[in-house]
Amino acid sequence: MTTTLDFTHDSGARSWVESANAAGTDFPLQNLPFAVFRPPHGTSKQFRGGVAIGDQVLDLAGLAATALLQGDAQKAAAAAAGTTLNGLCAQGPAAWRALRQALFALLRSDASAAQQAAMRVLLSPQALAEYTLPTRIGNYTDFYTSIHHARNTGRVMRGDTGVDLVSPNFRSMPIAYHGRASSVIISGQSVRRPKGQRLPPGDSAPVFGPTRRLDYELELGVLIGRGNALGEPIALADAEAQVFGIVLLNDWSARDIQAWEMAPLGPFLAKNFATSISPWVVTLAALAPYRQAWEPDAQAPPLLDYLDDAGVRARGALDIQLEAWLQPAGGEAQRLSQTSFRHQSWTVPQMIAHHTVGGCNLQPGDLLGTGTISGPEASEAGTMIEITHGGRQPLTLADGTQRGFLEDGDALMLRGWCERPGAARIGFGECRGVVLPAV
Ligand code: MN
Repeated sequence: MTTTLDFTHDSGARSWVESANAAGTDFPLQNLPFAVFRPPHGTSKQFRGGVAIGDQVLDLAGLAATALLQGDAQKAAAAAAGTTLNGLCAQGPAAWRALRQALFALLRSDASAAQQAAMRVLLSPQALAEYTLPTRIGNYTDFYTSIHHARNTGRVMRGDTGVDLVSPNFRSMPIAYHGRASSVIISGQSVRRPKGQRLPPGDSAPVFGPTRRLDYELELGVLIGRGNALGEPIALADAEAQVFGIVLLNDWSARDIQAWEMAPLGPFLAKNFATSISPWVVTLAALAPYRQAWEPDAQAPPLLDYLDDAGVRARGALDIQLEAWLQPAGGEAQRLSQTSFRHQSWTVPQMIAHHTVGGCNLQPGDLLGTGTISGPEASEAGTMIEITHGGRQPLTLADGTQRGFLEDGDALMLRGWCERPGAARIGFGECRGVVLPAV
């Protein structure tokens, strides 16, 4: 259902909101992503749901109070009027599609003068809005699904020994760990350098202090729709209908803390101090023109049935272009890497099917991280530890300073977009965080 193209994917359609027609905008009429925002003025300063159009945000609480929508679209807008989108997540794909189609018609250039006038008063500039997390995140799980990232980090940790650095289970299932929902923060919030234990090279006892190896991980975040009851797995063929939408995600990581603590139970304090996400949730419907075929790694053993589906093989991958940028305090931003999510070894539906196959329940608004997204080329690495080979080959920035890992005052930005001939270019906006010194 969510893979179907309809009139909302017409790349020639234009909006009466002029900024939505600008070349290179992230938010044309064909995107319509959701956020939770607070407008800069007005009678109520309460957070509420909104939709991006050009450089404006449309107030869904205001829209739900008009008579412009009917039926499922009106119910969906009403569910997005409050301070979280969990209610909209829980309504499922038919409601999301009804709202998308109604918004598209109301914002298209041929909407009536009366409709345009009624909608215009619900718009305010995105740049002046304040954003918060789009959902109340009950649970957060982070995957590890890029074989290129696995190889690169294996090489840094263990050296290039010529043997396969990918763990033996990697090609059989999407590996993950349960993360921490309470420290997921919205783009724009700063990140305090964490303190913890690390084992200095050659030493036998750990020391305590601020991490010296603060890193980012370029990822996407998946927000869950209706979810499943405890004990009732989500079949792979049904998993896509569980995706409300996708955001940019930075899994901030302290590599020295991680190296010391990770065996035998996995990452803990190295990851639980902060995870940043971008405010705009791009729906799977908007991403429909950017689906691609997926196939297992050439060295993978036969896929187990619960991870194999003809639909996933035909169109399970998503060609989302991604970039990471670093801006030192007072300096200019420079690009660290560029890649695409199409290189990922496992698809989002496989992550959902695997997560629930033992009966674990997902709930509306839950967050899944895809794991670091690194492509096959060196210029496509999604972390500093890969780019600088564990700090041994530091980057030289435009201001002449060097970086093995992130320094205090550095801003780290993630950007994402989709583009191809015959489809409208759509974007994700930005996920930004500045590193604050440890206290
Ligand atoms: Mn991660």
